[in-house]
Amino acid sequence: MSDAHLNLIDGTWMPGDHLTEIRNPSDLSDLVGHYAAATAGDVDRAVQAARAALPAWQAKGPLARADLLDRVARRIEAEAEEIGRMLAREEGKILSEAIAETRRAAQIFRFFGGEALRIPGEALASVRPGVDIEVTREPIGVIGLITPWNFPAAIPAWKLAPALAFGNAVLLKPAEMVPGTAHLLARIIHEEGCPPGIFNLVMGPGSVVGRAMVAHSDIAAISFTGSAQTGRMIARAGAEGMKKLQLEMGGKNPMLVMDDADLDLAVAACLNGAFFSTGQRCTASSRLIVQAGIHDAFVARLSAEMQALRVGPALDPASQIGPVVSAAQLQSNLDYVALARTEGCEVIGGERVDGPTDGYFQRPALFLNARNAMRVAREEIFGPCAAVIRVGDFDEALAQANDSDYGLSAGICTGSLKQARAFRHGARAGMVMVNLPTAGVDFHVPFGGTKGSSHGSREQGRQAVEFYTTTRTAYSFGG
Ligand code: NDP
Repeated sequence: MSDAHLNLIDGTWMPGDHLTEIRNPSDLSDLVGHYAAATAGDVDRAVQAARAALPAWQAKGPLARADLLDRVARRIEAEAEEIGRMLAREEGKILSEAIAETRRAAQIFRFFGGEALRIPGEALASVRPGVDIEVTREPIGVIGLITPWNFPAAIPAWKLAPALAFGNAVLLKPAEMVPGTAHLLARIIHEEGCPPGIFNLVMGPGSVVGRAMVAHSDIAAISFTGSAQTGRMIARAGAEGMKKLQLEMGGKNPMLVMDDADLDLAVAACLNGAFFSTGQRCTASSRLIVQAGIHDAFVARLSAEMQALRVGPALDPASQIGPVVSAAQLQSNLDYVALARTEGCEVIGGERVDGPTDGYFQRPALFLNARNAMRVAREEIFGPCAAVIRVGDFDEALAQANDSDYGLSAGICTGSLKQARAFRHGARAGMVMVNLPTAGVDFHVPFGGTKGSSHGSREQGRQAVEFYTTTRTAYSFGG
């Protein structure tokens, strides 16, 4: 088939055992392409190639790695519009967001190119006279990277770039629904001179390719982003193989709106946090915890602005909210809208709508009069839906915010320094936002959560070195 996109194994494009057809969720008549599904045998071939390539790659030293990442960053930047267009077509993110995400991927590669030359270490005095101790950071070996569909450029980048910067070899398995962006990244990494075997792309279903990676005895570590359910499965299987694990999972992120908040700012932060990217962000503000005094004014403004959002095809510059990623995700979102009613919420929006093309369009939704115990306030929906919970005071708001199985991001809108500070210290989340949406993070600082949201050390920023290296403690006695 002429539009077949193949796996990259040991520097060679390989066919896998069947092709998966990818269609545009904004327009099902638009065929994005056919992508080769790898087999467990392909995973093994890629692992053997990675193992064989590692000694020469590590011998090249950090400058070669820094230069490679810098060249990759430049190419991604130069091709950001083309890659962003692919991202918008396969995932449904509106084009401006898709291009911005692609540029973010370039920035991540550039940042970790610099980090390749700043690998930390320590020299310490020994308790024994005449003995010196050196603690160095060493590559782990072959690492499996398993990524979700909602950030097809940024999440692969924030795993790939540190893995390569610190001297490892990788297998990247993108989500089966969005192989196109990963394929474009793979082509760039390959063409910019990454040695055969150091970077491998293995596309296909998680139940085959991801599972084979997690089970492979020569893969030393797995970095995974995806649902809590899959994360738990990987934790169990990975522990069996004694693998190092980094698992980034879901969120049910609270955004507190206090009586003293700037109403314009609070509405803008919640509109962005809850609905942009069709709510398909692990950091989405999905619980809006609103103090009684501002509640009615806030709800009136937010629902008016939400209803005015233009839902439409990702490539239409007028669209503010793109389609839901798939038929299954749309059905799940609609089921949650129905559940919100059953649980006693007043629902605004949330219905499926026709667009100018045949796509999975849904209006954003607010679930009013929600309570934190409801399923719609406890389970991650991963769509353009936010539950509004009314509270009396700050202490009640903080308690409700923390009453969740998740702890990824948490925000507060307030004019009070005292409340902001109390929230920063009291919120049980990996990321805390004051007068900012819960979603939207920088790439040079740690990313991750607490409780059911994350397991293992943090991604991104200087802290990424924790996961992608292991320490070696060397003792020497000079006599
Ligand atoms: P899934 O857990 O379904 O899939 C994530 C990845 O795991 C995919 O590549 C998938 O492959 C793969 N996979 C599935 N089954 C297995 C298996 N048995 N063994 C190994 N790998 C497997 O999540 P989604 O793709 O649906 O992504 C949405 C989720 O991601 C949301 O819950 C969201 O919260 C979370 N997320 C978390 C972030 C964070 O940093 N905390 C950031 C972004 C998203 P395939 O696609 O082929 O099934």
